[in-house]
Amino acid sequence: MMGVSNGYFIISLDFELHWGIFDKRSVSEYQENLENVKLVIPRLLKLADIYNIELTFATVGFLFAKNKEELIQNNPKLLPSYSQTKFSPYATLDSIGINEKEDEFHYASSLIDQIQEAKKHEIGTHTYSHYYCLEDGQTKEQFEADLIAAITVAKKKDITIKSIVFPRNQVNHTYLDICKKHGIITYRGVEKHKMYNTLERIHHKKQSTRALRLTDSFFNISGYNTYKVNQLLDANSGLVNLPSSSFLRPYSKNIKSLESLKIARVKKAMTYSAKNNEVFHLWWHPHNFGTYMDENFFTIEAIFKHYKELNNKFNYKSITMSKLADYVNN
Ligand SMILES: [Zn+2]
Repeated sequence: MMGVSNGYFIISLDFELHWGIFDKRSVSEYQENLENVKLVIPRLLKLADIYNIELTFATVGFLFAKNKEELIQNNPKLLPSYSQTKFSPYATLDSIGINEKEDEFHYASSLIDQIQEAKKHEIGTHTYSHYYCLEDGQTKEQFEADLIAAITVAKKKDITIKSIVFPRNQVNHTYLDICKKHGIITYRGVEKHKMYNTLERIHHKKQSTRALRLTDSFFNISGYNTYKVNQLLDANSGLVNLPSSSFLRPYSKNIKSLESLKIARVKKAMTYSAKNNEVFHLWWHPHNFGTYMDENFFTIEAIFKHYKELNNKFNYKSITMSKLADYVNN
């Protein structure tokens, strides 16, 4: 890798629709958020164009299917045998609609096409079935089968999968060699602070830890979570770890007075990364913008405007996950 003369701004979006939350909420409990994803994505693509932003869409493999027949054909032969059966989406397949037109909560082929048509964004994987790599009962072989299915469905759209975002940020380090074997060069790790450590699942899921993460979105508790480019290569796996710096929490009516603090916190971390030639990695889900769309887009536009200023001043660059990983590797 050559000398680093600028900082980088990465945005990854966990694109999953109902597959990301099927074990927590029914479609009807989250309907507005989910059905507005078809509006959120084109609006985001348009805004990204205006501000020259490159996005990485970590996309669930199920979403690639045009219809149920195709989806079932795409399914891996080996399915995850979670101890808690609620984590497996395969039992719910009977209840989904027959295609995207009938069921916009479980299919997104046309939205994937829109992202692809914009050319500059990356489509990575969020696994085929929103696979939980740290849950009990599933195996490495089952993960590999899932990953192969994700890569295969993308190939049908001429997409080569090079990056992965693990569902619920469950990074299983013993699975990274499988990713490498199948051509993946980068993954999104987690912030260093204990409140983000998904390996300690009981601690991570505790109410007090969740409250701490909420507070951290507005007040600087965990730091800026920016990273030096020359420290991103994970020597053990050979993959480039592009850890999250911050989850962009959706607008909340109850704490709207804190919205400006949230924006300021992100901007400060971006400025720090631009000045110090480091990486700042922001992520969220398209469905997070499905309610209070205008408020959420106001926030992201403020962030994009700030990016543009930093781009002018410090040559700060927006980049996809795999492009930055390529750069690190060369
Ligand atoms: Zn997810």
